[in-house]
Amino acid sequence: MMRHGQRRRPNHYVLVVFDSCRFDSLVAARPRHILKLGDLEQRWSYASWTAPSHFNLLSGLMPHSNPQKVFASEYYKTDFLKYSERLGVDGVSFKSLIPQLYFPSFLKESLGYRTHAMVSLPVINPLTILNHGFDSFRLMDRHNDMRAMLPEMRFAEDRPSFYLLNIGETHYPYALPDEPPDQWPRISGVHGVFKHLDDHVVGGKLKAGTDRFFKRGKLKELRERQIAAVRYLDGVVEELFDLVPRNTYITITSDHGELFGEGGFFGHGPIMHKKVFEVPFVEGRLR
Ligand SMILES: [Zn+2]
Repeated sequence: MMRHGQRRRPNHYVLVVFDSCRFDSLVAARPRHILKLGDLEQRWSYASWTAPSHFNLLSGLMPHSNPQKVFASEYYKTDFLKYSERLGVDGVSFKSLIPQLYFPSFLKESLGYRTHAMVSLPVINPLTILNHGFDSFRLMDRHNDMRAMLPEMRFAEDRPSFYLLNIGETHYPYALPDEPPDQWPRISGVHGVFKHLDDHVVGGKLKAGTDRFFKRGKLKELRERQIAAVRYLDGVVEELFDLVPRNTYITITSDHGELFGEGGFFGHGPIMHKKVFEVPFVEGRLR
């Protein structure tokens, strides 16, 4: 029981972003460990591709719940109050971030956090503008190995830590670390782009009948692969839960959804479709 006037120690905070993971993919994977954090919510990303969506997350705005009959300013205000719980620090509000409006800088400069990012997708590499207010910002050697991030995480006793973990197993081609690249599914037109991992151009309207790979069966297989990736990541998340100190708050969400043929689209990016904004959201403290 805390006495009046006693200052709480801020929580460590870990923000896990399953890149491209659609809400219904996470539901279909029936994860055992991820849902220990709290209730799974269906939320909506502010952007349809990786870079703007991560910028938004790092501005402190989580995917939204799409409330009706409320002004945006009111919603932001309420959404930011949640940070008091996440960080274990009273009085965090939208105003706290003014004028930079950038969460890592606020955590570092105002609350004394050590701030770290480990990212899988080169489109948000350390030379991008997102690397602001971070003590360390690292592009991982492989685009699809969350487990490789875990031994790199450090939590000091005297200072709280913030980690952004951008996870690539759920991104096209939804490959697990032990799957040889020559066995990854090939989509003509997309794979050549994927070689450079230019995430922002993976996606778009499919031209009917022009690509046999976009047959319904192929797209169903790709969706199954994303679901399998979440099922696999659930085991890595269990390892994360075992690793973090007691006073750690964790949010697991996605930066945008993914299209598997709905409306004639595949992927994400230059797409206006409900499914490209639909993301899972779950958060809490384990104990
Ligand atoms: Zn993304």
